[in-house]
Amino acid sequence: MKPTNSQISAQSAPPPQVRGERVYLTFDDGPDGRWTPRVLEILAQAKVCATFFVIGRLALKQAALVRLIAAGGHELGNHTWSHRHPWMLSATAARQEVRDGAAAIAELIGRPPKFFRPPHGRLRRRMIEEAERGDQALTLWHRSAVDWGPLGSARGIARRLDATRAGEIVLAHDSGRGINHPAELVKALPEFLANLGRRGLVPSSLTEI
Ligand SMILES: [Zn+2]
Repeated sequence: MKPTNSQISAQSAPPPQVRGERVYLTFDDGPDGRWTPRVLEILAQAKVCATFFVIGRLALKQAALVRLIAAGGHELGNHTWSHRHPWMLSATAARQEVRDGAAAIAELIGRPPKFFRPPHGRLRRRMIEEAERGDQALTLWHRSAVDWGPLGSARGIARRLDATRAGEIVLAHDSGRGINHPAELVKALPEFLANLGRRGLVPSSLTEI
């Protein structure tokens, strides 16, 4: 049977609403009273959502800020209770770090976290087991802003972020804790987000993964 005119035109028309490919934004080590609101503001201006891997101990001290993150449609992930190095803990303490980090988030927003990221990305079997027990997916990253230490200048951060490709999880920090450089990150972040948009990439929280 010969195709009708309407079938021909439907086949040759471009597919409707091609959706951009996603990249997943994650911010670690907060909440931070100074820098988390600034990052939230930049994300809101760009109308994008991200995942914040918060430190439980800090989250409980800044409950309003954690609720503000959740109210903005962002995801909260578990970055342990106190960010102690996973390899420097007893087995019991390693499990407790994961449990208490998750409990802090659940207490603040009424639901447990779905994602777990160990401090420094260092894997520890006891921690992974505990996260699995709590239905939290172990989540590392593909692309780091390296927004800390001697390489953490706005220019360097921008260059590293601009190499982000579709499907990647991006790591940055919304916290001035330790050797992080959030002041440099927030200089580079708006242009990075605009650039993703120009490339047809859609920044998202891990909820969409
Ligand atoms: Zn961290």
